[in-house]
Amino acid sequence: MTTIGTDGNPLRVALLGSGPTAFYAAEHLFKQVGLNVQVDMFDKIPTPFGLVRGGVAPDHPKIKTVTKAYTQMAADARFRFFGNVKFGGHLQLADLKEHYHMIFFATGAQTDRKMGIPGEDLHNSHPATEFVAWYNGHPEYRDLKFDLTQERAAVVGIGNVAIDVARILVRTEAELRQTDIADYALAALAKSNVKEVYLLGRRGPAQAAFTPPEIKEVGEMEDADVVVRPDEVELDDLSKEAVAASADRSVIKNVETLQGYALRQPGGKSKKLSIRFLVSPLELIGDASGKVVKMRLVKNVLTKSESGSLNAKATDQFEEIPVGLVFRSVGYRGVPLPGVPFNDRWGVINNEKGRVLDLESKQPVTGLYTGGWIKRGPSGVIGTNKPDALETVNCMLEDLAAGRVLQPAQPDAASAEKLIRARQPKVFTFADWLKLDALELANGQKQGRPRLKFTSVDEMWAALGRK
Ligand code: NAP
Repeated sequence: MTTIGTDGNPLRVALLGSGPTAFYAAEHLFKQVGLNVQVDMFDKIPTPFGLVRGGVAPDHPKIKTVTKAYTQMAADARFRFFGNVKFGGHLQLADLKEHYHMIFFATGAQTDRKMGIPGEDLHNSHPATEFVAWYNGHPEYRDLKFDLTQERAAVVGIGNVAIDVARILVRTEAELRQTDIADYALAALAKSNVKEVYLLGRRGPAQAAFTPPEIKEVGEMEDADVVVRPDEVELDDLSKEAVAASADRSVIKNVETLQGYALRQPGGKSKKLSIRFLVSPLELIGDASGKVVKMRLVKNVLTKSESGSLNAKATDQFEEIPVGLVFRSVGYRGVPLPGVPFNDRWGVINNEKGRVLDLESKQPVTGLYTGGWIKRGPSGVIGTNKPDALETVNCMLEDLAAGRVLQPAQPDAASAEKLIRARQPKVFTFADWLKLDALELANGQKQGRPRLKFTSVDEMWAALGRK
């Protein structure tokens, strides 16, 4: 048997997931001089690019241009894409071990964290992640319904996802029409009654998780005023001390933007985005039919922990706000994959630097790797996944050099494809995606929109002229 990674015996890698991390991992592998590698990338839905297509807000088209680089990577002859193929459904770990030397999980964080308060599961209380996937046309979320007849909504959390959700809720139809938002979401939001959205932060403005461009952007919306209470953006002594000691310019920028909003007079726009600080939801209260009608909040103060972080501490001041729609946006969370060691506390695959570790022995599991949010948790921007993927690929190369790889019985591209197609006849290749992409762009153009997304698997299959 020739050495793995040479012409006679290419290194065969399965990449599960097709978001940024998976593409950066493929790129790093392809860059290795003298390594003969073949990469098969899988996604449970037909289309590639993970959260770039299904998570990035539709009104942030620039961020999505990163897919051009991924498309170039996919043009490499050593790359194949198998969309609509589910790990744990069509393919099991044992199947992959039969065909690949290394298996890399980059499946992201597919669910959300909960607030853990009474009433959280009332009707009209949703995870923000579901709303995001819905308005972005994710096939698994397209049939969800959101009650946009309500006039007031609350978004809990003040990270960038919360800001995205709040912004999409108060954008005008004209603003949304310029985006690639799913057509059904555009139609539903165009009829929306939502007039006021509360964005609720449990800590102060200096601890907000959103980034400066995102908080600045909400001050420039066509028909929504931003409202901030002057007393809530005045820094307390602990925050002043922390800001003075911090080298992070973005905190200062966030605070300056928010204090600027507090000085603004309402501009007479028809919708309102109220950003609140130092308040925590205690309970969602429902009506007789089980629909949320209000939220009980407690006012917080900041206290310093032993580690130096500033935490929210509840006071004895309470208030209620009338809201008929609630989105919790308090962080994404990874879901376990069958047969792959999972750290339930952190919601990530159990790993060290991307090498999957056995839960009991804490030793690396031969051939299994991970990257992105399912490796480190839901943090950072798209670019953060590049060094993250590199760290894992470096471990893979070290292991390859040491001979620590799986020993697949059928390490050839043709037999892997045969199995995949036997298990899932409706496979979508990257060439299929390029056709769908061109059709989406052309269909969008006909309506004066940048893109009209296909949102169901059947629709995509039929668009390719298949039955
Ligand atoms: P995030 O940045 O971690 O923000 C989570 C927010 O939830 C924080 O404000 C956090 O407050 C709050 N929170 C957590 N538990 C809470 C509780 N029990 N009650 C009330 N509030 C609670 O997460 P994310 O917004 O989901 O974003 C995930 C990652 O994607 C981030 O790195 C983000 O920057 C990135 N992203 C970037 C963009 C962009 O670049 N435009 C867009 C979307 C997402 P504490 O700070 O007090 O914990």
